[in-house]
Amino acid sequence: MKVLKFGGTSVGSVAAIKSVASIINSASTNNNIVVVVSAIGGVTNQLIQLSTRAQQGDTSYEALIDQLKLQHTTMYTELLGKEEEGFINELFSQLSEVCKGVFLLKELTSRTSDFIQSCGERLSSFIVFSYLKNEKVDITLYDSRKYLITDKQFGNANILIKETSELLLGLKSEMGSVSLFPGFIASTLENETTTLGRGGSDYTASLLANVFEAEALEIWTDVNGLMTADPRLVKQAHLLPHVSYEEALELSHFGAKVLYPPSIQPALDKGITIWVKNTFDAEGECTKITKEWDEKKNLVRGISSIKEIALLNLSGNSMVGIPSFSFRLFRALSEARVNVILITQASSEHSICVAISTVDVDKAKEAVSQEFKTELELRKLNAVSIDTDMSILALVGANMKNQVGICGKMFDTLGRNGISVTAIAQGSSERNISAVIHRSDMKKAINLLHESFFLSEIKKVHLFIVGVGNVGRAFLNQISEQQEYLLKEHHLNILVAGIANSKQSYFEEEGIDLKRWADLLNDGDAYHIDSFVSRIDELNLRNSVFVDITASEDIAQVYQAVLEKSISVVTPNKIAATRSMEQYRKLKQTARKYGAQFLFETNVAAGLPVISTLNDLIKSGDKILSIEAVLSGTLNYLFNEYNGQSTFKSIIESAKALGLTEPDPRLDLSGEDVIRKLLILMRESGLEVEMKDVDLVSFLPEGCLEAPSLDSFYQKVEDNEPYFKALYNEAEQAKTKLRVVASYKNGKATVGLQKIEEGHPFYFLEGKDNIVLFHTERYKAQPLVIKGAGAGAEVTASGIFADVLRLVNN
Ligand code: ADP
Ligand code: ASP
Ligand code: MG
Repeated sequence: MKVLKFGGTSVGSVAAIKSVASIINSASTNNNIVVVVSAIGGVTNQLIQLSTRAQQGDTSYEALIDQLKLQHTTMYTELLGKEEEGFINELFSQLSEVCKGVFLLKELTSRTSDFIQSCGERLSSFIVFSYLKNEKVDITLYDSRKYLITDKQFGNANILIKETSELLLGLKSEMGSVSLFPGFIASTLENETTTLGRGGSDYTASLLANVFEAEALEIWTDVNGLMTADPRLVKQAHLLPHVSYEEALELSHFGAKVLYPPSIQPALDKGITIWVKNTFDAEGECTKITKEWDEKKNLVRGISSIKEIALLNLSGNSMVGIPSFSFRLFRALSEARVNVILITQASSEHSICVAISTVDVDKAKEAVSQEFKTELELRKLNAVSIDTDMSILALVGANMKNQVGICGKMFDTLGRNGISVTAIAQGSSERNISAVIHRSDMKKAINLLHESFFLSEIKKVHLFIVGVGNVGRAFLNQISEQQEYLLKEHHLNILVAGIANSKQSYFEEEGIDLKRWADLLNDGDAYHIDSFVSRIDELNLRNSVFVDITASEDIAQVYQAVLEKSISVVTPNKIAATRSMEQYRKLKQTARKYGAQFLFETNVAAGLPVISTLNDLIKSGDKILSIEAVLSGTLNYLFNEYNGQSTFKSIIESAKALGLTEPDPRLDLSGEDVIRKLLILMRESGLEVEMKDVDLVSFLPEGCLEAPSLDSFYQKVEDNEPYFKALYNEAEQAKTKLRVVASYKNGKATVGLQKIEEGHPFYFLEGKDNIVLFHTERYKAQPLVIKGAGAGAEVTASGIFADVLRLVNN
């Protein structure tokens, strides 16, 4: 014999009940079977809701009854093609009468509440029975309340196993092909209706399987089985084909609602295999639960979560001295029928902390305050504190105990994403490690852990990009082109979750469609950097990265705050790295402290790997002796292109049009941009330097930089055409090339225009190329040379992209 249990969604619609019928039909062809059904999905909640409304004197409970009645009669009619006249009407008039009583007395006892809740299963079982009977199935409906006997713990009654077994076994001989029992409901020895706790239909089924010694227990629901995490929270959750009873117990205890935790024990006691199957995919994959587990499988089998819990904390200096303190605490909670989900106690015994369900908060507070009244008055204990906005996460796996480092990985993963953990517990079974966190972090945390423990998983990265000028556009294009490849080959899902220009911003948690970003942004919300950052914070998505593709001071200002939220920053914007040494150091320290990264490879030589190479040299113990570099692709382009034919001004304009200059070309021409780059290289080499420590030998004629506007600057340059021509001719005659060189040598840093002779590595520099020479302890005789295109939207964008990938891989 088998026992099949169908949950709320499995009986939730006409189509679902038809699927149930066909599953029952095929299961009962060769075997007698027992079937257990839940109330129609959502009905138990509605019954609870209407009864509390009645208790509060709110007449709208009547409308809720009418609505429920209509739902059930409609379903009956649709299934059987005729109206029901008897059971449903009678049951609803009973229900109305009882609720009227509650309404008049404004009192709802737990006994009455159980009676009201029992209506759900009584109705659903009646409908399923009538339909199957009508379909000529040999089926009998038994009222569970006649056979399942409990104590008087209404709302969460305990089965009296002796009485129940006797009654059920007495029934066994007369049971035919299909025996149907409503789940969840039972009664006391005095025939008062009781319920077995929310989700209790699973328990009914497991109990029947135990008593009848069934060969299998099948839990039919709306998912294919037990999964690595709640699929509503973790899109990437996948099915667990085979788990042990213990693992199933831990998973369900910590929130895998698909199985009601108490329902595992009765099956386990008789070694009955439990199957979890999908009513809507009857032939599909499923989960098998047995005694043994597959030792070769992943150590962490699943990640469960309980969304709504509260943390009760009791602390005080004299706790150590209070006799049987923990005993009294747990006795008080137990007498108040508060279920303790998790306990932590520091060995100093200064505080003890228990996680409880949020519905138990008032009861718990009252009970604990009463128990320790004297100690609280004498201030041996601090007031009972309760945090109600908490959740629990638990890693579960039977084999976890054989592996060190899981805890470390779990908390490292959370820490790196700025999720603080309020309490930690590891069961002595070592089958679970649990952490209490703030509820607002729940979804992010469970997804992060899922990513880090199920290696084949896809890692999601959320980018928030400010600045969609030339470089920004190129970057968005490159992501758009690479997305599919990264997903397929590297299991990396890079999403752009937010973008902004100086006027508008647009967010999409699941990733902006990069084919349409410009239109979407156009219709977006008004932009302000502060609201942009607070939105990132609100979204609280894992692996968030802030990408600043502007040259704006205002945006550089927010890095500190962003890093403090454990969000990494990637930017070609040089401002933050070139403010005072103190600010630079602070950003780096903040990044380290909050487990985030601050990457700015594109600050120097666009996409060329200059800073990362430098970092690698330093990390591996090398020392930088000197730096010589041509660091401005812009200036290089200008002096390469200029040959006295067209004016110097027109060359600047064409460079700007090609996207080779800073938004304001004066930053390039003043040499300031080169100074900043040299400063960054020196700082990254480990030197403590400020902007003023770099000497600049200006190469512009007097008055140009003092020009009050960009237009007047251009005018000045035009007026000084002969100056530029003379520079060119002089260099040409000496068979040299003009290069703006940045150098750090013998403790001195300078930037200036130099005439470079043939044979020097700087002589042959095409177009907008950059070149850097590092002389180091290891590269003493021959410098380490990095050379290539050092400006332009595409190469800068690809440098930003490389930083993003570097960050993901770290
Ligand atoms: P039923 O009404 O069939 O008893 P439930 O709603 O009680 O169904 O349980 C099924 C639901 O449990 C699924 O729809 C799923 O959202 C949720 N769930 C939570 N955690 C898990 C998990 N680890 N594996 C599978 N389902 C889970
Ligand atoms: N109908 C009950 C509930 O919603 C029991 C069950 O579905 O298992 O809790
Ligand atoms: Mg359930």
